[in-house]
Amino acid sequence: MEFRDLKKQYKALKDKIDCAVNETITSSRFISGPQVKELEERLAGYVGVKHCVTCANGTDALTLALMVWGIGEGDAVFVPDFTFFSSGECPALAGATPIFVDVDKRTYNIDSEKLEKAVEKVIADGKYTPKVVVAVDLFGLPADYNAIKPVCQKYNLLLLEDGAQGFGGRINGKKACSFGDISTTSFFPAKPLGCYGDGGAVFTDNDEWAALLRSYAVHGKSGNDKYNNVLVGMNSRLDTIQAAILLPKLKAFEDYELDSINKSAEKYNEMLKDTDLLLPKIDNDFYSSWAQYTVQLPDGVDRSFLQSELKKSEIPSMVYYARPMHSQGAFEKTDSSNADCPVTEELCKTVLSLPIHPYLTDEDIEKVCSCLKTALDKVR
Ligand SMILES: *Cc1c(COP(=O)(O)O)cnc(C)c1O
Repeated sequence: MEFRDLKKQYKALKDKIDCAVNETITSSRFISGPQVKELEERLAGYVGVKHCVTCANGTDALTLALMVWGIGEGDAVFVPDFTFFSSGECPALAGATPIFVDVDKRTYNIDSEKLEKAVEKVIADGKYTPKVVVAVDLFGLPADYNAIKPVCQKYNLLLLEDGAQGFGGRINGKKACSFGDISTTSFFPAKPLGCYGDGGAVFTDNDEWAALLRSYAVHGKSGNDKYNNVLVGMNSRLDTIQAAILLPKLKAFEDYELDSINKSAEKYNEMLKDTDLLLPKIDNDFYSSWAQYTVQLPDGVDRSFLQSELKKSEIPSMVYYARPMHSQGAFEKTDSSNADCPVTEELCKTVLSLPIHPYLTDEDIEKVCSCLKTALDKVR
């Protein structure tokens, strides 16, 4: 069994993907070919925002957003403590100070009350200027934007939605990657919508920011003249070949993959409901794209023992994430390491992610659940 079965997905889409790749190579428009523009239009339409600017990966997407806003030294950027490293890496790379905020135990996303307290504290301390909130849609579930946006408005903060894992999620029908002043996603192969290498995109309704994003992503070029460099930017484009692969993948994602992965999550919920595992909680009005299906183990259960028991039956499992952001070595001896995040500390010890993807069968899920239950009985 695969944790996320990209081979099985390729088998299902092989004809379309092979054709898309061949077409790109035949036309040899490897950089900024017509498929890139077509994909950007499709993505903007799907998400429901005015502009989509593709780029080289989800990390660059975050960096580009921070460049557009001129974030740098002296600025505070609020980031959940429980996330992938990029969410905090990009603000730090920009010269700003990430302020790590604890998350909600059940949704894994940033806790809006603790966010407000963290903003108040930064203002009271007076060392940094609060500028941006990076809200991460962890494991496919949109963050609680109904609670986060009022905090941003109250303190005049920009909202950056890190939708690297959230693409396809929604709240009340409104799609992930449309909640931020700027939103980003990643097409890393294992993300909800993945390509066959690195890729990313930035979304915004703001015309001026969209123009700046396009410039910063291509060496700070001016509007139509790519050899007139008016800004210092980066080389961060999505390859034509990746755009061509993403077009049929986006169609499958819309047509059935999202639906299928949600059925798998429901099946897990149903089969694990009588255990003392804490299952992922999706509030009413929320819809997840299930980048991960992550459970919490009861107190005192040996996680590595459980993982090795699963492994004996060839069931892969992963720990996302084993370390709070504020404890990462890169932030040692910086102000970012001073964070009070007890929920994150606990989660890092108890979370376990199980195999999930749109091509997982009911039999696979039954096998995972029965092995997991047997192993849980053994540890007691
Ligand atoms: C994967 C990920 C990123 C970075 O995306 P890349 O395409 O790998 O650079 C950023 N934020 C989160 C939450 C992620 O999961």
